[in-house]
Amino acid sequence: MENLNEKAEEIARILEKNYPNPKTELVHANEYELAVSVVLSAQTTDKKVNQVTPALFKEYPTWQVLSNAEVADVANFIRQVNFYKGKAQRLVKAAQRVVAEYEGVLPHSMESLMTIPGIARKSANVIMQQAWGIAEGIVVDTHVIRVSNKLGLTIHKDPAKIERDLMNIFPRKYWRNISSALVLHGRYICIARKPNCGECCLNKICPSAFK
Ligand code: SF4
Repeated sequence: MENLNEKAEEIARILEKNYPNPKTELVHANEYELAVSVVLSAQTTDKKVNQVTPALFKEYPTWQVLSNAEVADVANFIRQVNFYKGKAQRLVKAAQRVVAEYEGVLPHSMESLMTIPGIARKSANVIMQQAWGIAEGIVVDTHVIRVSNKLGLTIHKDPAKIERDLMNIFPRKYWRNISSALVLHGRYICIARKPNCGECCLNKICPSAFK
């Protein structure tokens, strides 16, 4: 285990150097727009989400306005994203909850965020880290599942187990950077169909390099 902790620390340092200030690629101007974008991004690319949000935010600029929207109208604005009908419903319900329970302001805790429709643990982690710089956990998406397995940091495929493994081996001070850096690394370097090991900053310590 000690070796794994040392390896994790080395990986964290290398990623921090290569991704000094990693941020979500979801375009947003405030925490409301970030949260809505995060809900929309489930099983959809950030690029697709960024295509629909400008018109959506123009029509529904706040939780308050969104809370009074018709689900069918919201759905029309987000037709290009996967599962848009369910997401439209969750967004309106989320807005109603934020307005009714939190006076129109997102709560700053994982526990409370996860009571809002459409926001599960991964989304709550993203919002906490990107909006307020608070890392209570590590974001585990499809890229992090793949990259952490390739790096030998976990043997699991289940996001909850992977997050637990990563939280155990990475010192807390790295959690925020690791979350975004691993996502970007998986999206652009350790690509699912063909990992670009030649360009990878971790290729000297990755057990899956060039295999
Ligand atoms: S060396 Fe290759 S397999 Fe390992 S993390 Fe880098 S790109 Fe992925």
